[in-house]
Amino acid sequence: MRGRPLRDLRISVTDRCNFRCVYCMPKDVFGSDYAFLPQTELLSFEEITRLARIFKAQGVAKIRLTGGEPLLRRHLERLVAMLAEIGGLDLTLTTNGALLKKKARDLKLAGLNRVTVSLDALDDDVFRAMNDVDFPVARVLEGIDAAAAEGLAPVKVNMVVKRGVNEHEVLAMARHFRRSGHILRFIEYMDVGHSNGWRMDDVVPSAEIVRMIGQELPLLPIGANYPGEVAQRWRYADGSGEIGVISSVTQSFCGDCSRARLSTDGKLYTCLFATRGHDFRALLRGGAGDEEIGGHVAALWQQRDDRYSDIRSENTVGLPKVEMSYIGG
Ligand code: SAM
Repeated sequence: MRGRPLRDLRISVTDRCNFRCVYCMPKDVFGSDYAFLPQTELLSFEEITRLARIFKAQGVAKIRLTGGEPLLRRHLERLVAMLAEIGGLDLTLTTNGALLKKKARDLKLAGLNRVTVSLDALDDDVFRAMNDVDFPVARVLEGIDAAAAEGLAPVKVNMVVKRGVNEHEVLAMARHFRRSGHILRFIEYMDVGHSNGWRMDDVVPSAEIVRMIGQELPLLPIGANYPGEVAQRWRYADGSGEIGVISSVTQSFCGDCSRARLSTDGKLYTCLFATRGHDFRALLRGGAGDEEIGGHVAALWQQRDDRYSDIRSENTVGLPKVEMSYIGG
C-alpha cells in the first residue's frame, strides 16, 4: 500500500464509445467486429450502488463515472441519483461531451457535482481527425457551455497532447478557455493498453507546455487543492484563470495515488497499468455479504505495491495491460 489511502473510485459504466480517438480506441482494433461486453456482463446500477456504499465505508470520498463513454449507458442519471442518495460522496463524470448538451440538466438534477470534458483540439479538422468519427468540435463546446450553465462547475477540460498531432493547438486552447471559468488541463500521452502504439517520442512533457503557454501568457505555480491531486496547478499572472498539467509520464505520481478502478464487468484494478483485476462481480453475484466484500477491498488495498509510472521505461511498454476504455480512464 506504501501508506497510500483509498479515496477515489473510478467506475467504468460501459466499455463502448461513440468516438474512436486514435490514441485510445483506434478503429483498426475497435472496429465493427470488436466484441464489446454483453449487457449481462455489466454491473447493474444496483450492483454499482452497493459497491459504492461498501467502498465509502473503506474511505472512498469521491466517485468518477467513466468508460468508454459513460453517457452511452442508458439512463445514467438514474445511477447518479442512486449514488447521490448514499450521501457524502463527491460525484463526478468524465465524458467526451458529445451527448452532454442533451444530458447536463438531468445529470445535475440527479445530483452530479461536476464534469470533466475531454477535448483535444479547437481546430475542427484536427478534432475530427483525432476522434476519427468526424465529430464536430462545436457540439462539444455546446456541451461544455450546457454543463457550466447547469452548475456542473467548475468544468474541467482535459486535453491529451500528442507530439506532431495536436501540440500546435495548445496555445489556441489556452487562449480560448482563459477567462471562461473552466479549468484546462494538459495530459501527457500515456502507454495505456496495447492498441495505441505508444512511443516516448510522442509525449510532449508538461514542462514544455508550461513554457510554451508562459511565454505568451505568464504563469505562476499554485499549490494542490488536496494531497494526491494529479494535476499540478498554474494560474495566469493577470488573474484570468488557472490551468493544470498532468505529468503521468515525466513526473509520475504513484507515491500518493489514492485511486482504485472498477471495470465495466466489476473487476477491481489498483493501477491503470495493472495486468489483472479482482472479480467483485463474482462476490456480489455469489452472495457475499457487505462486510465480506469490504474485507476484500481493504485487503487488496493493503497489499498493493504497484507503481508502474515510477518504473516506466521503453522496457515496460510491452508488459501486458488492459485497455483504458474497459478499465475506465
Ligand atoms: N469517453 C470519456 C472521455 O472521452 O472523457 C471517458 C473515458 S476516456 C478513456 C478518459 C480520458 O482518458 C480522456 O480524457 C482521454 O483523452 C484519456 N486518454 C485515453 N487514452 C489516453 C492515453 N493513451 N494517454 C493519456 N490519456 C488518455
